[in-house]
Amino acid sequence: MEHQHPPTPAQPQSRREFSTIPSLATMPFHQNSVRQIRRHIITYSDVCRANDATTTELENLGFWSERLEKIEVYWTVASLDCYGWYQGDIYIPAVTGAHLSDYFQGRYVRLTDILRHEWGHAVADKWPALIDTRRFVRDFGSPYESPNPVWRYDPDQHLTRYAATMPCEDFAETFYLFLRHKGRLPVRLRAKPKIVRKWQFLEWMAGKISR
Ligand SMILES: [Zn+2]
Repeated sequence: MEHQHPPTPAQPQSRREFSTIPSLATMPFHQNSVRQIRRHIITYSDVCRANDATTTELENLGFWSERLEKIEVYWTVASLDCYGWYQGDIYIPAVTGAHLSDYFQGRYVRLTDILRHEWGHAVADKWPALIDTRRFVRDFGSPYESPNPVWRYDPDQHLTRYAATMPCEDFAETFYLFLRHKGRLPVRLRAKPKIVRKWQFLEWMAGKISR
């Protein structure tokens, strides 16, 4: 996932790490460097670290509430049947690469960004009184639960391509960028009124939740 270091020859330490992950033997990767192989694996400690960072952001930005306390984040080793926000909890598969690329339609995303996105769905589900509103429809174009695309992808309306798939994904993508940018809309987006409105929707939500 997040690799600050360029690939280098494997160190003895990382080789030990490698040997503790038995399923790697069956992985279809053929790189010589252990560091490169690890790019495709999300470890339990990766998930803990990224989730700590994300929940701290939720707190700092006013989205945390006791309603979120019972949500579990699972690191799923074997099953890829369900992942993401699913029936009240968040599931993160241990294997990235192809599967998560499918999940996010080919975008390469960081684990922290996935968690930010999924926590967005969690917040939405726990605060239906704020989501099932005229204000949501006005700012996102359709009700949260609508299965239809709001509009074809338009960079003046959508922060990412994935946001154009459904209103709930538009919300979750806006949420992840809101967290990533600490609630401050990047200057280059301030001339886009439809995006400004979505951003303001999140500010309004945070104000209601943290009140
Ligand atoms: Zn989503």
